[in-house]
Amino acid sequence: MEVRLAKNSGFCFGVKRAIKIAQDEAYRRKEKLVTIGPIIHNPQVVQRLEKIDVFSVNDLAEIKNTPAIIRSHGISKEAKLELKKKLIDVIDATCPYVSKLQSMGEKLSKEGYYIVVLGNKEHPEVLALISYLSGKYLVVEGPEEIIDLKAKKVALISQTTQTYEVFEKIVKKLLDTTFELHIVNTICSATTIRQDSTRLLAMDSNLMIIIGGKMSSNTKMLAKISQEYAETHHIETAKELDNAWFTNKNRIGISAGASTPDDLIIDVYNKIINISGSQLVVNSISEIPVFKEETR
Ligand code: SF4
Repeated sequence: MEVRLAKNSGFCFGVKRAIKIAQDEAYRRKEKLVTIGPIIHNPQVVQRLEKIDVFSVNDLAEIKNTPAIIRSHGISKEAKLELKKKLIDVIDATCPYVSKLQSMGEKLSKEGYYIVVLGNKEHPEVLALISYLSGKYLVVEGPEEIIDLKAKKVALISQTTQTYEVFEKIVKKLLDTTFELHIVNTICSATTIRQDSTRLLAMDSNLMIIIGGKMSSNTKMLAKISQEYAETHHIETAKELDNAWFTNKNRIGISAGASTPDDLIIDVYNKIINISGSQLVVNSISEIPVFKEETR
């Protein structure tokens, strides 16, 4: 059985940065901290932060005098204002790419563009983004939701974790009805390279294991892409692996979302090679064979 890891699996820059900010602040301040919503969409990372006194709260009303960390997805303009009113000490761990998306949306909206956002309507990043839009906007999850906006100026932006393919389809659809279309590709490159690596590995595998939080938008997207090419299972930890999945499978691919820590990937790899009968154990991610895309 051949087991290979997709190139560029695991933590992205924004997630690494947010976790480091939370850890550094917890050690430096030596007091309880809260994050507004889970700092990233990975329950195992959230549980680890609780051990150093960093807790997640879902409602701003729960924050009294505790310093509050803004997670990588960012928070709404109104939430920021409310924290300011309550004189809460705010530690901003919003990913700089997400901040850039928010300021871009705000600017284009002020300039009079009708904003079309490609994104998951319920996702915190999208909910935060629309709070920065002062004019008309429409959030769509796919090209089939595009309607004739009857607007002179339309600007298209995207949640950072969407796929380029869907973004492109929306551009084509908008061109049918729009005179002036301003396109800003706000899809994060960390997302795109993870999606491309996962797709290439899935095309060369007969079973794919995608590791990451069940609520993680970018991990769910990797699983969606992968299942177009190979049998795919989305898991959070090695405990969910089922021996039956591996029967008659000889090329196994592993990929992980941008919010999945290395040790969870290592655990999954070790368990899979154990299922294949190997006694080998790896201790670092660099020991896991990576799929060589250039050999395709
Ligand atoms: S995927 Fe991109 S935008 Fe999202 S947190 Fe990571 S680096 Fe930032």
